[in-house]
Amino acid sequence: MADTSLNPYIRAQQSFKEAVDTLGLEPAVFDILKQPLRTFEVAVPFIRDDGTLQVFTGYRVQHNDALGPTKGGLRFHPDVTADEVKALAMWMTVKCALLGLPYGGGKGGIACDVDQLSDREIERLSREYIRAVSLVIGPDKDIPAPDVSTNPQIMAWMVDEYSRIRGENTFGLITGKPLVIGGSAGRVAATGRGLVFATRQLATALGLDFAQSRVAVQGFGNVGSVAAEIAASLGAKMVAVSDKDGGLYNPDGIDMADLLEYKRTHRALAGYPQADPISNHELLELPVDILFPAALENQITADNAHNIQARIVGEGANGPTTPEADAILFEKGVMVVPDVLGNAGGVTVSYFEWVQNQTRFYWSEQEINGRLEEYMARAMAEMHKMHERYGVTLRKAAYLVATERLAQAMRVRGWLT
Ligand code: NAD
Repeated sequence: MADTSLNPYIRAQQSFKEAVDTLGLEPAVFDILKQPLRTFEVAVPFIRDDGTLQVFTGYRVQHNDALGPTKGGLRFHPDVTADEVKALAMWMTVKCALLGLPYGGGKGGIACDVDQLSDREIERLSREYIRAVSLVIGPDKDIPAPDVSTNPQIMAWMVDEYSRIRGENTFGLITGKPLVIGGSAGRVAATGRGLVFATRQLATALGLDFAQSRVAVQGFGNVGSVAAEIAASLGAKMVAVSDKDGGLYNPDGIDMADLLEYKRTHRALAGYPQADPISNHELLELPVDILFPAALENQITADNAHNIQARIVGEGANGPTTPEADAILFEKGVMVVPDVLGNAGGVTVSYFEWVQNQTRFYWSEQEINGRLEEYMARAMAEMHKMHERYGVTLRKAAYLVATERLAQAMRVRGWLT
């Protein structure tokens, strides 16, 4: 049976509806959560290197700010649409509420292809975007961060532009900045590190020794390569990894330090001599204990979910498992660490960055990693409790934790009556 292709915005709405119904909450909770509180669509004009003017469409969505200012990344991608940004903002609301961060969910983006732009053009575009949304963002209103095709340098231009508009340095505007202007230690590795923390905790709860586990990772970028390196450092045997050009498999284990050095010198995984080539499709179905999909959405579908052999799927990517596949994995007894927890290490350390900017007091990487582990463990425990109480998937349980917290905040603020 082919997967039902759903608009991510509608999927996010359905998840909130199920949570409100399961918890028996007042219908007003869903009426508020089913759409963003504010959606801004802005024209972003900028001058190309040849002197001509080009205008892109930009978005900033603030889904819900009951728990605090909205928080979420900025994506530069040709496929950016209002619905995609709304869905991503809703998922940020869930992530922040689940992790107990004092934030609501936001997201932004520009529909553009950065591969067609020079660095100077990207800088001008980034500054113009900030001018277009400067009235609606701010350290106590809405705090952007990097996402697909944006990076610390772009965050630096953006915080500089906002600081010029305000006439004062405002480093707390944005997270994911370079260290020298208020970035946080540990931010770059935070998502992969959080994914390993959460998955190891679930493995322990299931009686699986993480240090003895066999692990496969799809995607070898910021999330996947860090998760692979940290998992290996904790004793797990890394049997397979992949990137967009294909995968590598060695049932006896791949030495991560050696592979990372190979990737650094060859700028690719392909051709690594200590493992056999496999396809991305084959990687997902290998006999492993733990599978980390850390590349793209819709990788585990109704077509391959029956063949997944891992006991735990730890989602590093956003949306790698379709709803149909989720149901199949649940029936098979495969536990899924859902993306809203699995990749929440990034926003959690972003929160730490913002706290450091607001207090002007900076923490060591050791402190950051210790606190990250504490936050991930607490969220995992709360989610697991809901999973046992209601007999639902961990993903649905994550929505239950988040929705209950959001409802409490909206109720005490008088939004529901
Ligand atoms: P990245 O661009 O650094 O790495 C992506 C990796 O996936 C690359 O190795 C690429 O080669 C590989 N890839 C691309 N297409 C593939 C395909 N068809 N099959 C297999 N591999 C493929 O990106 P990232 O920052 O690591 O993000 C990965 C995922 O994690 C995305 O879904 C992103 O939204 C999510 N995420 C990232 C962060 C973060 O802090 N970086 C936070 C939350 C969620």
